Amino acid sequence: DSFQDVEMGEIIMSNIALTRYTRPTPVQKYAIPIIKNKRDLMACAQTGSGKTAAFLLPVLSQIYTEGPGEQYPLALVLAPTRELALQIYEEARKFAYRSRVRPCVVYGGADIGQQIRDLERGCHLLVATPGRLVDMMERGKIGLDYCNYLVLDEADRMLDMGFEPQIRRIVEQDTMPPKGIRQTMMFSATFPKEIQILARDFLEEYIFLAV
Ligand code: AMP
Repeated sequence: DSFQDVEMGEIIMSNIALTRYTRPTPVQKYAIPIIKNKRDLMACAQTGSGKTAAFLLPVLSQIYTEGPGEQYPLALVLAPTRELALQIYEEARKFAYRSRVRPCVVYGGADIGQQIRDLERGCHLLVATPGRLVDMMERGKIGLDYCNYLVLDEADRMLDMGFEPQIRRIVEQDTMPPKGIRQTMMFSATFPKEIQILARDFLEEYIFLAV
């Protein structure tokens, strides 16, 4: 029952120590090895379960081991709200501290020009709300050709907020690596029909985890 059970690289391990997380929560304990084994994942987990670190740690560790280069973003995390996107981004910054992995965040209701300039400085892991990301794609400011890791966080909430068209627009565009090539992880508090359909469409032979 320790973060040492999974190989995650020295910098990330020392950053986990800095966050003072001593033991993995249940969703972390089960999801991290599944993601490290490159399997697609559908995880039912509530807010407060530690789900953010459950996907950030293995994804950042993969990017870190593969060597973050000039091509980006390598990972995309979609989240329903600005507040959640910022929380995920802050946690990513803690885990990526002193590494060459650069996280960025974009969300609606803020200056898009500044977000574009920030992206242009390089961005390995992008946290985004769906509407703002579609806006950036339409302006030709972001391509998803290298996006080998895709996370949908609070997928049920994104659907409740009416983001399904934007999500499909992002995930089903021609340049996004197809399922089976990219690794896709969905997190949702509930697992209704609409989420099952999204999982069927976006995930390849996925593992189902309920904690
Ligand atoms: P989340 O469900 O990802 O929003 O996380 C809920 C809260 O738990 C956040 O404040 C995290 O910083 C904290 N947290 C996540 N993982 C751990 C852990 N392994 N040990 C202690 N706190 C944690």
